[in-house]
Amino acid sequence: MKKLIFLKYGELSTKKDNRNFFIKTLSDDIKKNLKDDVEIKYDLGRMFIIPKNNNFHEVIKKLKNIFGIHEIIVAYKLEDRELETIKANIINIIKEKKFKTFKVDVKRSDKNYPIDGMSLRKILGGHILKNANDIKVDVNNPEFIVNVEIRIKEVLIYFDSIKGIGGYPVGTLGKGILMLSGGIDSPVAGYLAMKRGIKLEGIYFESPPHTSEAALDKVKALAKKLAVYNNDIKLHIINFTEIQEEIYKNIPHEYLITIMRRMMYRISAIVAARSNAKIIVNGESIGQVASQTLTSMSAINEVVKIPVIRPVACFDKLEIIDLAKKIDTYKTSILPYEDCCTIFVPEHPVINPDKEKCVEYEKLINYEDMIYRAIKNRTTIKITGEDELDFQDLL
Ligand code: ATP
Ligand code: MG
Repeated sequence: MKKLIFLKYGELSTKKDNRNFFIKTLSDDIKKNLKDDVEIKYDLGRMFIIPKNNNFHEVIKKLKNIFGIHEIIVAYKLEDRELETIKANIINIIKEKKFKTFKVDVKRSDKNYPIDGMSLRKILGGHILKNANDIKVDVNNPEFIVNVEIRIKEVLIYFDSIKGIGGYPVGTLGKGILMLSGGIDSPVAGYLAMKRGIKLEGIYFESPPHTSEAALDKVKALAKKLAVYNNDIKLHIINFTEIQEEIYKNIPHEYLITIMRRMMYRISAIVAARSNAKIIVNGESIGQVASQTLTSMSAINEVVKIPVIRPVACFDKLEIIDLAKKIDTYKTSILPYEDCCTIFVPEHPVINPDKEKCVEYEKLINYEDMIYRAIKNRTTIKITGEDELDFQDLL
């Protein structure tokens, strides 16, 4: 009898055409995360993970942080499928377990196995009852379920499953550019996008000397948290100072933020195209600030064609904070370093910006050249993930 782990993919298994690609990506992600700790075997629709040093606890902890894994199941594998072998081993395995009520569930993946499912359930249930005291069968609401799966070459016996993080393997849905500020919302938005299988590159707009090196370090620290799920993350750092100062000098102050954000969108769209990213992701949340009213979002969004996905658009701030704490970005996000928006915030930003006025005001600055320069001079760095994170029970 061998102890091993197998995985359930949930939604993933409904994507028939892409199934192989999804599974290959998932298994690559597992290899990357667990390195030499495990052997991975793929057999008749199931992915098996065999911890090499019997370190199940460590392995499961890491599997719990990999998108695409919905359930993690520890199972016992019998290579001999004889009824007597199954009976003897079941008793051996469950003698440590404490329960008052139970049922046996049988899955007969091998339809040619000589005993039918119903009979096997009865035989094994009866056998367990005979070998233990004070327990009862309860088919409707059992405390303990003994799962027996008859496969072509082997039998699997298992009990509970451990909840995985879910979602799709990162990268299986393509690439996106995450507008990553040092705030609370954008790392959470990034996490949710990755959960949907989107591989991210980050873009950060800095305005030195108005923003500090410490603000940039904070964004790098946040990117490092996200990189755990992303198999490293590329971060594009855009020097936004010239654009920001020109806007500040030439444009009526109530439109500062609107125009500044239109510039950020334009730059993000160009960087996205160059990176072959299909969407922009950001942390905008409806109604949170003046630039996130529906009219503002519409005036800002109109400068790009690429879809802009806002995973936290409909979340309350408290819901976002809650998730930020769970993914361990919150503590970093609330460090008190100014980002480029907070320095140039006008006293009365327009709540319902007029699109035509935006276009008029933008004629006052030579923004195309500045955008070209900012993109040409960008710095791109690669950030690798932190291993020691321990995220539990996310979404
Ligand atoms: P967050 O929304 O991340 O908490 P914030 O509240 O400071 O940060 P907002 O002014 O609400 O940011 O901006 C909305 C979104 O625009 C951010 O979530 C982020 O996606 C993007 N953004 C804002 N500032 C920057 C920046 N300096 N670099 C990159 N993206 C930015
Ligand atoms: Mg915000």
